[in-house]
Amino acid sequence: MASAYNIIDHAYDVVVVGAGGAGLRATLGMAEQGFSTACVTKVFPTRSHTVAAQGGIAASLSNMGPDSWQWHMYDTVKGSDWLGDNDAMEYLAREAPQAVYELEHYGVPFSRTEEGKIYQRPFGGHMQNYGDGPPVQRTCAAADRTGHAILHTLYGQSLKNNAEFFVEYFAIDLLMSDDGQCQGVIAWKLDDGTLHRFRAKMVVLATGGYGRAYFSATSAHTCTGDGNGMAARAGLPLQDMEFVQFHPTGIYGSGCLITEGARGEGGYLVNAEGERFMERYAPNAKDLASRDVVSRCMTLEIREGRGVGPKKDHIFLHLDHLDPAVLHERLPGISESAKIFAGVDLTRDPIPVIPTVHYNMGGVPTTYWGEAIDPRNGGPDATVPGLMAVGEAGCASVHGANRLGSNSLIDLVVFGRAAAIRAGEIVDRNAAIPETSRAAEDKILARFDRLRHASGSTPTAQFREKMQRAMQEDAAVFRTQETLEEGCRRISAIWDELPDIKVTDRSMIWNSDLVETLELENLMVNAITTVYSAEARKESRGAHAREDFTERDDANWRKHTLSFLDEAGKVTLDYRPVHVDPLTDGIDLDKIAPKARVY
Ligand SMILES: Cc1cc2nc3c(=O)[nH]c(=O)nc-3n(C[C@H](O)[C@H](O)[C@H](O)COP(=O)(O)OP(=O)(O)OC[C@H]3O[C@@H](n4cnc5c(N)ncnc54)[C@H](O)[C@@H]3O)c2cc1C
Repeated sequence: MASAYNIIDHAYDVVVVGAGGAGLRATLGMAEQGFSTACVTKVFPTRSHTVAAQGGIAASLSNMGPDSWQWHMYDTVKGSDWLGDNDAMEYLAREAPQAVYELEHYGVPFSRTEEGKIYQRPFGGHMQNYGDGPPVQRTCAAADRTGHAILHTLYGQSLKNNAEFFVEYFAIDLLMSDDGQCQGVIAWKLDDGTLHRFRAKMVVLATGGYGRAYFSATSAHTCTGDGNGMAARAGLPLQDMEFVQFHPTGIYGSGCLITEGARGEGGYLVNAEGERFMERYAPNAKDLASRDVVSRCMTLEIREGRGVGPKKDHIFLHLDHLDPAVLHERLPGISESAKIFAGVDLTRDPIPVIPTVHYNMGGVPTTYWGEAIDPRNGGPDATVPGLMAVGEAGCASVHGANRLGSNSLIDLVVFGRAAAIRAGEIVDRNAAIPETSRAAEDKILARFDRLRHASGSTPTAQFREKMQRAMQEDAAVFRTQETLEEGCRRISAIWDELPDIKVTDRSMIWNSDLVETLELENLMVNAITTVYSAEARKESRGAHAREDFTERDDANWRKHTLSFLDEAGKVTLDYRPVHVDPLTDGIDLDKIAPKARVY
């Protein structure tokens, strides 16, 4: 049956899957070096979720006051709750200023200070003096449309450097050789129904996060963790999947994001008593404490009966005390979002907000050069030939157990660029592009064909909603053994029922039913590895807050979780050590040693 599909063949030095900030920066870097480069993307590049990034991109430029890469690194280490890899975090903080200047030179229209320098705003968890404070102005912004500005600029630059784009091609699975080398990817062209084989010396996964495994998320409906699904189906591990970030200020009801930049510009949260409760929990950083901390405090206030609204189930964010001219200049986009999604004029009234799923710290484990890791290839840092992962799909790991706001956009460009630099060293320009394995291809097509003709009784949307509800209820801001076991049970039960899936559209052209089914299978990979990894971790760290194990336990748990998944839906866990050695002696080791995390 599978062989009935006609396949169109392509061969490139490098194939990048994904055209968000990470995919485009990698694509640009590859093309600039003269590699023949294809970028395969299921949505038009400038529609990738990066376009929605509002607040900004962190780099210690010191344009608005004192700052240093060491302070940025320290804040990232502390934000990660000491689960991030110190070599990767040093690389991020050191390279950040250069990466932002590079964006400036490529043409990103940053907001400006009076002297014409790049404007920088305060953001949660970014402080002066190794966390002692006050908050530092480190987050470079193009008003509240920073991701939009970056994405458009990188797309233009990639075209200028002759990268080839394959737009609205849905990547289905990785082509792996018998000996574990990645040799390409199979993709489905959505508008004419053709199937395509992309052979390559290097494949870069830049497919973004999986927010849509949850019922309420700030991320686009396209954020379905497809790259993680492909990696897991290729038998590769996913890392630290239990760490899911809730953003404190999703608009109540719609989940639409109000950037942390709103609090950076002076916004604050209040409970039903009108109290600015963050002053009580985080006397130093207050509303600018790290996201996991603020989300937990909001949840506690609501639980203790001090939520606002008729159901006392959310919190108010005030911006109405700020100068309307400042709101207009620095936060025009969220003024609009508040109007549309909450019906609120934020110059007069508070915005109703609630912690909402926002970011996935976990993903494909990589070195700080973006090379995918599989310890079974020979030790904790052994790499997978031919495969890289960057951006939210990857786990380098710079965000550890909790990402700081504005540290993702910088991660995209620093590691997108790093992947290109590394490819320049390890991809042999003169070697032939590999012939791919027929058996691997047949397996991919058989799965595709099975889903296309799936004739069970449960529509995809029904499975998706069940999964999203289970994740929302059982892998939430606060977790217990009981909720996590329930989460494992519910998600495994859905996995077992998947053979009953019903796809009604059998066509190959614009078959959104089949696209959503492929996405559901990918989401399920992410969901199941998230709940099982979370159930196993008997401590609280960063975004993983357990009510039955309330303390961080460095002696037993300062290690990365690896989850492997088999076809039957069985998750096998393993662990690998955190990299405690930084890259250079530019940072004082005592400064970054684990201690209590208070803001
Ligand atoms: C509303 C919002 C605001 C944010 N604001 C900020 C901020 O101010 N600062 C900050 O640092 N971070 C912010 N973040 C986080 C940050 O924007 C994301 O983590 C980041 O943009 C992810 O980029 P990415 O390149 O990894 O993936 P994405 O931008 O999500 O792009 C994924 C790409 O992969 C492609 N793709 C996926 N699956 C397939 C497939 N099967 N086949 C082919 N192509 C595929 C898609 O077409 C897309 O091009 C925000 C996130 C959200 C949701």
